[in-house]
Amino acid sequence: MKTKILIGKLYKFKKQWRVRKAKRVADLMNRVINSDRFKQEVLGYEFTDRRYRPSSSEEYQEINDNEEIYEILMKGNEQDSNEGEDHTWKLHIKLGRGLRQVGRREGNLIITQNWFFKKPENEKEIAAHWFHEYSHVLGFHHDFERTDRRPDSVPYGLGTIVKRVLENP
Ligand SMILES: [Zn+2]
Repeated sequence: MKTKILIGKLYKFKKQWRVRKAKRVADLMNRVINSDRFKQEVLGYEFTDRRYRPSSSEEYQEINDNEEIYEILMKGNEQDSNEGEDHTWKLHIKLGRGLRQVGRREGNLIITQNWFFKKPENEKEIAAHWFHEYSHVLGFHHDFERTDRRPDSVPYGLGTIVKRVLENP
């Protein structure tokens, strides 16, 4: 079954070129998530932090089976949403003005810093960033500090996988 990645609400996307760019990124993401290559990469990845919780009131559990990680991603059952396993990701994005990291997540909202979003020809990097953040929306977690296990946690590992798939299809 295919998973659909849709643009939901866009905040502070004042100019049309920004909306068009968001759509190009979503197109890339749809291509990635429904590819065999993505599946193979997720199934073969050595994730070092596999913490996941289906809702924010629950304790984190470790998902040891990559097949299960893949299923969670494909099913699109967002934390604290009652839309269920609709095989749909709805991207709610707000452009921010922070200077440090490329972005972050607040609940179901992804914040992307405008300095990063407006860089020319970086749709692939934005796609990787939105995959990372959306994995948080679905319930995956990583350390906030720069620990050894952070770079290959599910959210960061997905960013790596997405770049790999897009740069070398
Ligand atoms: Zn993160």
